[in-house]
Amino acid sequence: MRTAEILVSQEETERQERFTEMIRTLPHRPHYYHVVTYGCQMNAHDSEKIAGMLDRMGMEPSTVREEADFVIFNTCCVRENAERRALGNVTWLKEVRKSKPDMIIAVCGCMIQEPGMAETILKQYKFVNLAFGTSNLHKLPELLYETLDSGMQHVCVEDKDVIAEGLPVRRLRQDAAYLTIMYGCDNFCSFCIVPYVRGRERSRDMKAILYEAEGLAKSGVKEIMLLGQNVNSYGKGLPDHPTFASLLRELDGIGIPRIRFMTSHPKDLSDELIEVMSSSRHILPQFHLPVQSGNDEILKKMNRHYTREQYLDRVRKLREAIPGIGLSTDIIVSFPGETDEQFEDTMSLVKEVRYDSAFTFIYSPRTGTKAARMEGLIPDEVSTDRIQRLIALQESLQQETLKRFIGQEEEILVEGLSRRSKLAVSGKGRHGISVTVDGNEADIGRILPCRITGLKNNTLMGERI
Ligand code: SF4
Repeated sequence: MRTAEILVSQEETERQERFTEMIRTLPHRPHYYHVVTYGCQMNAHDSEKIAGMLDRMGMEPSTVREEADFVIFNTCCVRENAERRALGNVTWLKEVRKSKPDMIIAVCGCMIQEPGMAETILKQYKFVNLAFGTSNLHKLPELLYETLDSGMQHVCVEDKDVIAEGLPVRRLRQDAAYLTIMYGCDNFCSFCIVPYVRGRERSRDMKAILYEAEGLAKSGVKEIMLLGQNVNSYGKGLPDHPTFASLLRELDGIGIPRIRFMTSHPKDLSDELIEVMSSSRHILPQFHLPVQSGNDEILKKMNRHYTREQYLDRVRKLREAIPGIGLSTDIIVSFPGETDEQFEDTMSLVKEVRYDSAFTFIYSPRTGTKAARMEGLIPDEVSTDRIQRLIALQESLQQETLKRFIGQEEEILVEGLSRRSKLAVSGKGRHGISVTVDGNEADIGRILPCRITGLKNNTLMGERI
């Protein structure tokens, strides 16, 4: 797909601006909004855009859900229990509305994009005023106007992969910002629903990304997090086929002090990317590289397109080029049919790689995916035993791997006061590990150089230098 074909047109953008103005002048428009966010950073950033659009409509954020006139749930559907939780919270709000009848309830995000969900909302959740999918985010002004004007339920799920440039954003943090570089995913890992709900891969034009990054740099942002379901395949389908590495090289030249990215697929991690990272000034020495399993047969059933050895080769290359790099991963245990021996392969891979952190999950079937139709579900007690062993192993190794930072100098971007002490602040170091140092509120948003002095649980302790 060519970018020009999927870009939201200028006419459409102007149309939405007109609806934004029309809502501002509506006498019965909502005044306070509250956004509830589930799921990943992509969703968190979508919520920032929703808040930005609502600000333009003249509304203000409310920190208390029950006090808002417009409550919008930005949902995730990666795990079925997260979906159930979201729907439970939406239903709870129906009760709250009995004493606040003008409240508008909206549901958006990945869950709405699932096959059959629009019908479910229409039939079983009639009290929801407005529902729309991820591809319709930019149409919020029009959809909300129609909902307010007609008093009818609106459900909009257009099966269209689009890119909407220039949406307003209310950032959660002033010192750090998300920057989406691509949308969707073409990988179809057999356990994952994302390609079905977020659509096919489509990359933003490099000039648009650089323009946004320059704006963020001018506004004083110290760290950007590049977002995409598979950032390593950035550029596919764009004219001239730019690579993710070439994008990073350009971004590195802008001068934002810290650049991070999320998420990567091991099969697309190129030598060129490793080279750019190792020679850059601002790309942080950290890498989230989901492995999912240490066994080739399971990796094949997961449709991951790499073997254990190919994965380990990428890890070796990263460590040779960027000594001390922070490595993290995602792991699923008890994928359908996983034998004890296959699980032991995952354990041995974890021992070999020695990650700084790992997100571990017991496999749970996701309706609509290929894996959900596979045979060989693993009994709960076996899965519980496996995950407990894996977590124990990771925790013991993590204690060892993090000790390599003791005595070293680090730089942290302070996120807030430490939960441990009012005389300390915490933030992420360059390697992606949380660090606590002495400090106070005035340090929030600053980059502090420090020396690591110790380790408490999985947090590094440091002192300012
Ligand atoms: S790479 Fe695989 S796990 Fe990641 S979003 Fe795409 S399909 Fe899902």
